[in-house]
Amino acid sequence: NGANGHAALPEWHSTPLAEIPKLHADLDASFRSGIMWPLAKRKQELAAMARMMTENAELWARAIYADLGKPEFQANLYEIGVSHQALTAIAQLDEWAAPAKPAVPERHAKWSPTVYKVPKGVVLIISPWNYPLTLTIQPLIAALAAGNCALIKPSELAPHFSALLADLVPKYFDPGVVRLVNGGVEETTRLLELKWDHIFYTGNGAVGRIIARAAAQHLTPITLELGGKSPVVIDPTGLDLDIVAKRILHGKLPNAGQTCVAPDYILCPEASQKPLMAAFTKTMEEWFHETGGKALRSPHYGRIVNERHFRRVQGLVERSKGEVVFGEKQTDPERYAIEPIAIKTDGEDDLMKEEIFGPVFPLITIKDVDDAINFIESRDHPLSLYVFTKNEETKQKFIARTRSGGLVFNDTMDQMGIGLPFGGVGESGMGYSVGRAGYEQFTHLRASVDVPDNDEEAVSFRYPPYTEEKVNL
Ligand code: NAD
Repeated sequence: NGANGHAALPEWHSTPLAEIPKLHADLDASFRSGIMWPLAKRKQELAAMARMMTENAELWARAIYADLGKPEFQANLYEIGVSHQALTAIAQLDEWAAPAKPAVPERHAKWSPTVYKVPKGVVLIISPWNYPLTLTIQPLIAALAAGNCALIKPSELAPHFSALLADLVPKYFDPGVVRLVNGGVEETTRLLELKWDHIFYTGNGAVGRIIARAAAQHLTPITLELGGKSPVVIDPTGLDLDIVAKRILHGKLPNAGQTCVAPDYILCPEASQKPLMAAFTKTMEEWFHETGGKALRSPHYGRIVNERHFRRVQGLVERSKGEVVFGEKQTDPERYAIEPIAIKTDGEDDLMKEEIFGPVFPLITIKDVDDAINFIESRDHPLSLYVFTKNEETKQKFIARTRSGGLVFNDTMDQMGIGLPFGGVGESGMGYSVGRAGYEQFTHLRASVDVPDNDEEAVSFRYPPYTEEKVNL
């Protein structure tokens, strides 16, 4: 036990490079033994996973706090709470995995056409630091439910978390089913040289391209969960701006804006900007009244992960030619914390060139909804698109005329946790996680028929010689 009476967190160390091919070979042999074919075995591993999460809740929260300064409430809600997805998978697995008997033309019905939902094999899951538990566990649930064996590689930028995970994985999972590698670029590069049956990567698009190139060498299928700039559109007629402000800040403040689906920038008509910014200030005064309406020193607010990212976000703010219209430029360089702000600017500003991944909102003027649609569609397709509107026609326009991973009306962020398919499009990624759609990423649809001998008369027309009678059939 440490000085504060808590059990000490385990220490991070990277996996020796020479061990990596053996871990892969062990999982491969184990998969080929058929270990994960029985649904009962899959459910057993999923139940162990749920226990690993809930029995160690205090340790997870502490490790994630050490890496990210994330308040315990956020760790419980957005990370440890994901354990319920393992229980949902257990409850639904029989239905997901049941062989399908699709309708076929009448004369093939006696061939017993069946689609088996089979695992792909041994899969590699590479996850980022921002929601380190959720983004490792969510794809792992899908991979195990689908009957795969998995190697997980958490992020070296969340070392307390990754060390804890390395410590707990062998205590809860069958070593023939789940193994872990800790490390950074070198270890991941070694992993990517091996032949996997699927690679599931969550992180940024530059590394996404490295993954895609490596996977191409083996024709390995991939899922890429990437990021990008998720817009918020304000269509002001009839909106209650107090509610709008709360729901936008609710998506931007957790983890100090380092959330893949955090609202990145705001598109708003000129006339509504001042009232919206005033509503932001009012919300901050309510939520952070203990610290004078400022988040910076509040225990209910996190910080930026490391110095490099802290300087990156600061640099974006410093290079911006816009004007601060909400909050004020304030940072705590010792904690890497940044006070939330909004900066009024335009589409050419440095703030609009990359995903901000921090508590800074560019605020951009639009004339109307069509202007917003053109703005969004002329850029990379975002992971999420948030539209605040009371107008049904506006909703239909966004459904039909924009592209994004997800589309949310009148809220931000929580679309992720309710079991819907989650995934990007274009620069924000390819493929899905969560629930059945996640399960299907790791599943091969194996079409099968069994042709009975007594069908011989019916099928014999296909054999040579191809008489004139057959040709004209
Ligand atoms: P990161 O730096 O931790 O990288 C993710 C993983 O890639 C890590 O495991 C890391 O070791 C590995 N990696 C890094 N460089 C590599 C290299 N050169 N070769 C091979 N592997 C390498 O995390 P990040 O990319 O900073 O994460 C933030 C990004 O992830 C943001 O863009 C965010 O929007 C996105 N994101 C997306 C989702 C989603 O579900 N779509 C979720 C969270 C984050």
